[in-house]
Amino acid sequence: MITPKIPDLVSDIGKGCSEVPVISRRNWGSATNVSKDRKIEKPEYTVILVVIHHTNGKHCKTKEECKRIIKDIEKFDIELMNKRDILMHFFIGGENMVFEGRGWGVEAEVIPDTSASLMINIAFIGNFTSETVPTKALHLAEKLIQCGIQRKQISKQYKVYGHNDLACTDCPGKELLAKANFASVDLDY
Ligand SMILES: [Zn+2]
Repeated sequence: MITPKIPDLVSDIGKGCSEVPVISRRNWGSATNVSKDRKIEKPEYTVILVVIHHTNGKHCKTKEECKRIIKDIEKFDIELMNKRDILMHFFIGGENMVFEGRGWGVEAEVIPDTSASLMINIAFIGNFTSETVPTKALHLAEKLIQCGIQRKQISKQYKVYGHNDLACTDCPGKELLAKANFASVDLDY
């Protein structure tokens, strides 16, 4: 049973992308820099799913630590999983860093056990099965989604799911899931 979680669009989050500086692939030392996967046509109408993950590994506090982790993930996804590109669209690192993965407007690699490719996957770096997710990091993810809407890369009708809403997995960890629920309200519209 899928329960949509719609984030509470609290006013202090604000709109726009100026509050969400994204650390580019070039900046974190990606092997490819530009995604080879297909671009989505009219993402402002079609990207209605935002799926939240955790990386299920070490967390990071500094940019350098996060960069190392993301480089390893890129290597894993491409070399070991044999994917064309890093799976996640974006990563949230520490409390206040957003890193570009495959980036805006690129089709998602279909996650095992799900069929949707028209979604944005955002991973929090760390393992949130037992660790708690920083509130600032949650707010940053919400700002990133708002930025996506403003850039016409996410539908205004989007819904946020945890990975385990869509597939049988522990991802994104019960602590993150609990907080994401906490930050959500059910809106009737
Ligand atoms: Zn996941």
